[in-house]
Amino acid sequence: MKLHEYQAKQVFAEAGLPTPGSALATTVDEVVEAAEDLGYPVAVKAQVHVGGRGKAGGIKLAENESEVREAAESILGMDLKGYTVEKVLVEEAVDFTNELYVGVTMDRGEGEPVVMVSEQGGVDIEEVAHENPDAIVREHVDPAFGLHPYQARKAVYDAGIDQDVAGDVAKIVQTVYELWDDSDATEVEINPVMITSDREAVAADAVMKIDEDALFRQPDFADMEEEAAEDELEAKANDYGFDYVRLDGNVGIIGNGAGLVMTTLDLVDYYGGKPANFLDIGGGAKAERVTNALDMVFSDENVDAVVFNIFGGITRGDEVAKGINAALEQFDEIPKPVVVRLAGTNAAEGREILNDDLVTVEETLEGAVQRTVEYANEEGDQ
Ligand code: GDP
Ligand code: MN
Repeated sequence: MKLHEYQAKQVFAEAGLPTPGSALATTVDEVVEAAEDLGYPVAVKAQVHVGGRGKAGGIKLAENESEVREAAESILGMDLKGYTVEKVLVEEAVDFTNELYVGVTMDRGEGEPVVMVSEQGGVDIEEVAHENPDAIVREHVDPAFGLHPYQARKAVYDAGIDQDVAGDVAKIVQTVYELWDDSDATEVEINPVMITSDREAVAADAVMKIDEDALFRQPDFADMEEEAAEDELEAKANDYGFDYVRLDGNVGIIGNGAGLVMTTLDLVDYYGGKPANFLDIGGGAKAERVTNALDMVFSDENVDAVVFNIFGGITRGDEVAKGINAALEQFDEIPKPVVVRLAGTNAAEGREILNDDLVTVEETLEGAVQRTVEYANEEGDQ
């Protein structure tokens, strides 16, 4: 689960990390009000889960009321890489001289958490990692002992951070590691940590991802889950207990098992289609789960056709087929064409049971995907 910047900043502030004063706003008037309270200059920042908001026009600085009004009008409601901006964070602008990078994640290769510090923050850190890997200092941590303060100081020193702010930055590194550890986070990242003209270090951006499987013991983060969801569809997926990722194509994909769904995504792409989503309904495919899955894909206005890729295991193909029939019978009119590929236990029986008036049945996965892509193209042209 990825937190919005405003949520992560609240967590940061509670953990004692220095963050600029800020307020969340959803209307132009609220933005102006917040700016007046905070005092100019302010930064107006789009709150959507996309990286590189700055470059994409999702962050604007304002010196006065007319500028902040203009910034709010241009950002609220804008389309940022496929997402409509509904909330902005109004924040005291930081007058900075340097932008640093601080992050903690799990290094799966080493089997240990890793703390990363770089003097080259602000920009795309993946680009730095690619073009100038030595500019990112990595310090591995023994999770049983935690990050020793000398390790934080060493990482900051090795990264070449200016001496007069090194102590403050090391403190930030230490706090970020502890926050990562205490929160069951998979990632905590501050890009950039800004060094102000007064030589103070502040967290100007905030990324925090929490392991969803740990939410049962992280009640505070569990409470943030609904608000952290990017849109209604993701919130719905949380309610239904589905693994769901929204993509920007028009072919809806439903399968039981992550590998099966990934394969379907690849094939849709191979046959010239564009996946609208990743949706894994998990083991079994009772009518209710199928109904919920269809509700998900049909609620996505980008979807022009849907492919079901189901492998019958313990849940037999005939049961799945009954589930699909029952789910589709609830519609007076089926909103978009649905293609089904059924394999595994009792697949033949299942295909027999599937109602041809409601769905197109294909025996092979390739056939099903090709048919769905055709349907999606036809629907898309209308
Ligand atoms: P991201 O582009 O989505 O990662 O958003 P960030 O919060 O990291 O902001 C991107 C860039 O916008 C920063 O690296 C700064 O260059 C600029 N920026 C953000 N906030 C401020 C601010 O308060 N003052 C100034 N001068 N620039 C800012
Ligand atoms: Mn950033």
